[in-house]
Amino acid sequence: GSLNYTHLQDERRKLPIYTTRHRLLKALQPMSSAIVIGETGSGKTTQLPQYLYESGQHKKLMIACTQPRRVAAITVAQRVAEEMGDQLGHTVGYCVRFEDCTGKDTKIKYMTDGMLLREAIHDPLLKRYSTVILDECHERTIHTDVLFGVVKKAQAERKERGMILLKIIVMSATMDVDHFSNYFNKAPVLYIEGRQYTVKIMYTSEPQSDYVFSALAAVFQVHEESPPNEDILVFLTGQEEIESAVKSIKDIAKDLSQDSPPLIVCPMYAALPSNLQLRIFQHTPKGSRKVIVATNIAETSITIHGIKHVIDTGKVKAKVFNPFSGLDLLKVVNTSKAQAWQRSGRAGREAPGTCYRLYTESEYDQMRDNTLPEIQRCNLSSVILQLLALGIEDVLNFDFMDKPSKESLENAVNQLELLGAVIKDIKPKLTPEGRKMADFPLEPRLAKVILAAKDHSCLEEILTIVSALSVDSVYHTPASKKDDAVAVRNKFMASEGDHLTLLNIYRAYKGVNCNKQWCHDNFLNGRNLRTAVDVKKQLKEICTRQQLPVESCGQDTTAIRKCLCAGFFMNAAELQKEGQYVTVSSRKPVSIHPSSSIFQCKPAYVIYNELIQTSKCYMRDLSVVDADWLYDVAPSYFRRKLSKK
Ligand code: ADP
Ligand code: MG
Repeated sequence: GSLNYTHLQDERRKLPIYTTRHRLLKALQPMSSAIVIGETGSGKTTQLPQYLYESGQHKKLMIACTQPRRVAAITVAQRVAEEMGDQLGHTVGYCVRFEDCTGKDTKIKYMTDGMLLREAIHDPLLKRYSTVILDECHERTIHTDVLFGVVKKAQAERKERGMILLKIIVMSATMDVDHFSNYFNKAPVLYIEGRQYTVKIMYTSEPQSDYVFSALAAVFQVHEESPPNEDILVFLTGQEEIESAVKSIKDIAKDLSQDSPPLIVCPMYAALPSNLQLRIFQHTPKGSRKVIVATNIAETSITIHGIKHVIDTGKVKAKVFNPFSGLDLLKVVNTSKAQAWQRSGRAGREAPGTCYRLYTESEYDQMRDNTLPEIQRCNLSSVILQLLALGIEDVLNFDFMDKPSKESLENAVNQLELLGAVIKDIKPKLTPEGRKMADFPLEPRLAKVILAAKDHSCLEEILTIVSALSVDSVYHTPASKKDDAVAVRNKFMASEGDHLTLLNIYRAYKGVNCNKQWCHDNFLNGRNLRTAVDVKKQLKEICTRQQLPVESCGQDTTAIRKCLCAGFFMNAAELQKEGQYVTVSSRKPVSIHPSSSIFQCKPAYVIYNELIQTSKCYMRDLSVVDADWLYDVAPSYFRRKLSKK
């Protein structure tokens, strides 16, 4: 009611950005582009769109504020609607994948950067917006990087055509300001003075072998030594790890002595249901302590009250590109120094605090200064496909803030041409097939496999395999029970290869109604299998939209393997007389990975998803294929019929 509204207005006036309100608006008024820098929690994301709206000149148009993360877009929109005393979806709304909570009166729209990119496919001039605020720019996701170029182009074209100007505001916590300013035509930089208290930094004296274990130990050390109501924020890397750490903390806490304060343990990660996410914003009851176990989402995109201690494992899950397989993988890697400082800063927002870095000072010194932009780590064929779908004609000369090398761009275009997604005219052009591929949130090779399924009537099976390949490993192999795991899982192994083994596992899992205990007994990862079921559902929706018939080929595995060839013929290997394999493309010696179901066999031809270089170069995720199938999907690539043994 109005009491709450008054209270929230008081809160708004206490934020650091409030004192700079007039200066900020006055400075922004004549500028077409600007960069706004301020500490996490200073009020950028929640306040600046409101200020612009309150002082706005183009009341008919919207203000967009993009977020790299879906959760951030939703929680911030909820907060701002509350601050404005308005219902969510009226003046303030949000838009994320599979969810649009905006209405005809919406003027402030929080959205993921991916959604604004999708909108730009249909409206390249972004005509519905007076202002686009690109928030959390230091994260440098692929979507944000591509958006930079898209909004810059829209701004220039609107100016040229004498339309209402598009204002671009780039917002972030600390980042390489000059680099951004140069890219946006020397845009001026505005700083918001933040309040930051000193944070004491502690390092470990020895490198830690198990960062999750060290994090748990640190939580209880802080808990025993500190007075209640000093809350703890722990940075881990992903959902599964966080859920299991939360469970351990709760279990251990049960055995603590009666006089230690009660612990309230909250997980925080992108996929957490939103009712549980809101719990972290609630104030901790007097005499107890809150422990929040979060991914890097708590680094800058959301602000949490009352944090006095930060426990930083120095790890983050990041997308990395494997140039051999062409696949992006999520992998746990070390953070950058910039991330480490953001994390420690979370302990000093309301009072002096402490940050426990669970790594040594020399490990810190070896961290890179800034996070490498995703665009320099990820598969470019996906980016090129998306740019073409956006209607960008000259993709090779697209105005990237950090341009990838010419070779990697050209490689990507060549790969797309081989997949039938583009034709190379003077400039590469999207084919109708390519347009369909761009619709799938998948690497182009996997999208191609899905499209190929139509000709072989096996989309049901292909969707299963693609989904199982798109999640983290479906296997669960405890180090102490490796032999048991291999023996128990032997019954799933397919003689045609690992893709069909995945199909067997998925079918068996569905056959027992996704039973958790069954997964445990069979050394399978139940959570990842459940995610695969969910991914499959989403992919099926896209197939339905594209009117692709979801048919099953029953027991005919030939059809399935022919489809896989359509996407992965570039990853083929051939058996030599001496019993050694070489890749067809570059004659590189390779071996079948010992974990493969065909490790003991010597088929003449195989395709693989990825190469892993250890002591030898191993092929992983293989299927046995026929020479003719390979030749038939790409005669121009192989040029000659492959010899049959
Ligand atoms: P910045 O973008 O500069 O990091 P924000 O605008 O996100 O800052 O946050 C400003 C303040 O609003 C924070 O101090 C935070 O406490 C508060 N806040 C933001 N979102 C919520 C929410 N969902 N619930 C309660 N408080 C919130
Ligand atoms: Mg923010």
